[in-house]
Amino acid sequence: MEGQKPQGRPLFEDDGEGFRAMAHATIAMEPADQSHVFTLAVAVRLQPNGPEIKREPITSLDLTDLYSEVWLAYLRSGHPATSYSQLSMCVLPVFREENRDRCDGFVVQARGPNRETTSLQFDIRAVYHVAQRASKRLLETSVLQPSSYLYYELVAERRPTPPPSLPAAEGAGVGTFVNKHIPLKYLNLPLQPLLEEAKAVGSVDHWIPVFYTLDVLKMAERFSREGAKYEPAQESGGVVLGSLCSCPDSGEFFVLATDVIQLFDADQTSFSLTYSNKTWARIQQVVRTRQANPATRTERIVGQCHGHNFLPCAEKGKGDGCEQRRTCQMTSAFVSEHDLEWSRSVFVRQPWAFCHIFGLDARGRPVHRQFGFRSGRLTERGYYLMERLPMLSRNGDAHHSVPKTLPSEENT
Ligand SMILES: [Zn+2]
Repeated sequence: MEGQKPQGRPLFEDDGEGFRAMAHATIAMEPADQSHVFTLAVAVRLQPNGPEIKREPITSLDLTDLYSEVWLAYLRSGHPATSYSQLSMCVLPVFREENRDRCDGFVVQARGPNRETTSLQFDIRAVYHVAQRASKRLLETSVLQPSSYLYYELVAERRPTPPPSLPAAEGAGVGTFVNKHIPLKYLNLPLQPLLEEAKAVGSVDHWIPVFYTLDVLKMAERFSREGAKYEPAQESGGVVLGSLCSCPDSGEFFVLATDVIQLFDADQTSFSLTYSNKTWARIQQVVRTRQANPATRTERIVGQCHGHNFLPCAEKGKGDGCEQRRTCQMTSAFVSEHDLEWSRSVFVRQPWAFCHIFGLDARGRPVHRQFGFRSGRLTERGYYLMERLPMLSRNGDAHHSVPKTLPSEENT
């Protein structure tokens, strides 16, 4: 969400028209007054001001990743024991000043069991995948030619009377989820000593903090670059294990990466890393074994790493001349569509998960970048690097505050 406060902003902090629109829209939150319920949709045009050719409804399913990000914001506001299923999600359109239908974005507000709320604001980029779906449908029905440009915008339709029982997946107006309450397992760990020990790499602003030790980062790099030994070079990598942590002082929620499992039997193909069933079975087994050990029982998969062991221009074919240029900013440490698709499906409801990509710059020198979820996309983010892991008690008990009778959410 470039250009605006990435954390979103709380409701009612806005001024001007946005304030009034949002204040008006909050009426929809009160079940007693169902006279103002909105349904979000993407309106598609062939020209910026041309006629609308398609209106694609935005379903709750389309907003799954955004709901998860709001849950993470909730966890980070000192509520680490609140499970996703305990939150009521509400979607509030942010109307554009001059138009009652068109929106600049929308706010997703989560309300927890104690009625405290956390909200994040998203703009139109957060529903890019809905526009993609509309475009695919238009192509299939030959309304659209493959080379045509599409313009899309966000609209909120006012529904005077909501259907008596609206299934969650059918509309993103007002939704309350009924799911099993499964709290996360996390460590209680003060954040400040870690921040004093660690060095920030890249921009860590507004992101959930991720801590690496040098050893773990080196391991991730070694496994990710392994595929460079093959001819032609292959993708290779691993899954990063770690613990979720809550700071008892600040309430901040963060990730401590502690190990990497190498994926040596993944079905490796150039430019894409696919995990076979056998690979997944092995990963699950390692994670379960770790969780059975008191010292590592909060460990879970917190991220993924892999190598893009090819030059940045290799995918497009040779001959664009980047070798000849004095400087070239291109790198192969980017998120491919496949990486995004993979992460969205594997890390569903794990908004803290990251993807670390080890690539090459145009001169073949190693570069690497970490990406995290923001507005449902994988966006470059910073992390913290430290020499060694903080001291944890040997059996971990002193730092655990997980209700012992409830199951953990690992491996979901
Ligand atoms: Zn990739």
